[in-house]
Amino acid sequence: MIVDRVNQPLRIGVLGFGGLGQAAARVLAPKSEMIWTAAADQKGYAYCQTGLDVNTAVEAYRDRHSLGYLEPYGTFSNTSIQDLLTNAAVDGYFLALPNLPNTFMADVVRQFIRSGWQGVLVDALKRTSAVEQLLELRSELQQAKITYLTGCGATPGLLTAAAAVAAQSFAEIHSVKITFGVGIANWEAYRATIREDIAHMPGYDVERARNMSDREVAALLDKTNGILALENMEHADDIMLELAGICGRDRVTVGGVVDTRNPKKPLSTNVKITGRTFEGKISTHTFTLGDETSMAANVCGPAFGYLKAGAALNGRGIFGLFTAAEIMPQFVR
Ligand code: NAD
Repeated sequence: MIVDRVNQPLRIGVLGFGGLGQAAARVLAPKSEMIWTAAADQKGYAYCQTGLDVNTAVEAYRDRHSLGYLEPYGTFSNTSIQDLLTNAAVDGYFLALPNLPNTFMADVVRQFIRSGWQGVLVDALKRTSAVEQLLELRSELQQAKITYLTGCGATPGLLTAAAAVAAQSFAEIHSVKITFGVGIANWEAYRATIREDIAHMPGYDVERARNMSDREVAALLDKTNGILALENMEHADDIMLELAGICGRDRVTVGGVVDTRNPKKPLSTNVKITGRTFEGKISTHTFTLGDETSMAANVCGPAFGYLKAGAALNGRGIFGLFTAAEIMPQFVR
C-alpha cells in the first residue's frame, strides 16, 4: 500500500516512451507531488530513484531509438517491463503502451500480477474489448493489492468522465455522442495511436493495422491526404458509462477526425449528453475542449489525475479495477 509515501512525491514509471510516454514525462517535469523515476521502451529501460531528466531521455530516444542509450541510467533489455518490475521502486505506472495486439495490455497486467508488485496502474486504453479483458482480471488485481484505473486518457477518459458528471442533470440519458478532432504534425510521432485508429476504418482490423509496415501506413495516409475520418468506433466509453450505471452502451457513440499532417485540430473535440430532466424536458449538455489543447495534454493530464486518485484509494486499502467514469481524477500539483 502507498501509505508510507504520505507527504512524499509518488515515484512514477511510464511504460512506452513513444508520443504519449514522452509527453507524460514532460507533464510530470514541473510537478512536486510526483517524480518521474522510470520508463521503458521495447528495447530498454531507464531508472533513477531521484528522478530522470526528460530532455536527455527524449534526446536519447529520438536519436538512438531506445532509453537503453540514456547515460548513466539506461539498460538494454528485451524484457524491459519485467526488468523494471524487478529493479525499480515505483509507486505507480502510466501504461502508455500500444495495445497491439488487442490482448497486449491484459498480458502486461498479468505480468504485474504475477510479479508481486503492488501499487497503482493507469492506462489510456481505447477499445471496449480491451477493457473487457481487464474486467476479467478484477479479482486477481484485488488480491494482488493493485489499484488499477482503466480508460483514463481523453476518450475514453476525460470526455467519459465529463459525460458522467453532465448526466447528473437528467433523470434519463438518451445519448452520449463523442466527437474528437486530433491534429498532429506527423504520424510517426504517434505510430501506435495512428495504427490503432486505422484499425477502425472499413476493411481494416487490429491485426491488419498492426501488420502494416510504416511505408504502408504512409501510403494509406497519402491516399487520404493525411486525414483519418472515423465513425461508430469500438470505444470503451460505452462500457464505462454502462458500468457506471449511466446508460446502456448502445446509447454511446464515438467518432472523429485525425489530421496527421497538421497540429491544428480539424474540429473541436466535444461530448454531447442528451437526456430528459425530472420535469420532462429534453436537453443537451455540451462539453468542448479548447482547440489549443493537444491530444497529449488531454491524455496525460487526466492519466496522472487518475493515478493520484488511485494512490489515495490504494493508501486506504482499496484495490481492484476502476474506470475513469466512476472515480474523480485529482489535480496533481
Ligand atoms: P507510440 O507508437 O508512439 O509508442 C509506443 C512505445 O511503446 C514505444 O516507445 C515502444 O518502444 C514501446 N513499446 C512497444 N512494445 C513494448 C514492450 N513490449 N515493452 C516496452 N515498451 C514497448 O505509441 P503512442 O502513439 O504514444 O500510443 C500509446 C497508446 O496510447 C496507444 O495504445 C494509443 O491507442 C493510446 N492512446 C489513447 C488515447 C486516449 O484518449 N485514450 C489517446 C491517444 C493514444
